[in-house]
Amino acid sequence: MSKATYRCACCGDPFIARVADRNRGWARFCSKSCKAIKQEQRTGQHHAHQTRRDECAEPTFSNAHQFDNTELQS
Ligand SMILES: [Zn+2]
Repeated sequence: MSKATYRCACCGDPFIARVADRNRGWARFCSKSCKAIKQEQRTGQHHAHQTRRDECAEPTFSNAHQFDNTELQS
């Protein structure tokens, strides 16, 4: 499988991705966090007020972490 260096659509950093993925419209970001930032910007433009409410609903994320911990312990 051939790979190539692309520039992240969020931060502009170069990263290596599969050409096949890129052709499908994937591999546009160097990391998952960059992808999340871009997606937030896209939805945030349309739902500015809802984005603020999402911040209040953040405990969902810490719940997910707790879930991971219990799985590791058992
Ligand atoms: Zn990036």
